[in-house]
Amino acid sequence: MDFYCPPCLKIVNQQKLKCNKLATHFISLKGKRIWRIRYLNRYAYQYITECQYEELVRDQPLILANATYWDDFNPHDYTGLDAKGSRSSIFA
Ligand SMILES: [Zn+2]
Repeated sequence: MDFYCPPCLKIVNQQKLKCNKLATHFISLKGKRIWRIRYLNRYAYQYITECQYEELVRDQPLILANATYWDDFNPHDYTGLDAKGSRSSIFA
């Protein structure tokens, strides 16, 4: 799965995770809600914070092809609690 690295917006693959800013960024989201979104006209996902998500849907409600969130994000194994209450990978 490909996604935009949040700090630098380069597209990275979750099996390679090449950007060295990425780990630091994900550690800053420890314990928080993390959203994964995809725009209609883009193939790569984006990971954003709860604040960013709220701003986004307030301004432009119909532009997303996909939006999922996880609570209590764990940056060590990249998991969080999904909407069903199960701990699952944010890359699944
Ligand atoms: Zn990066």
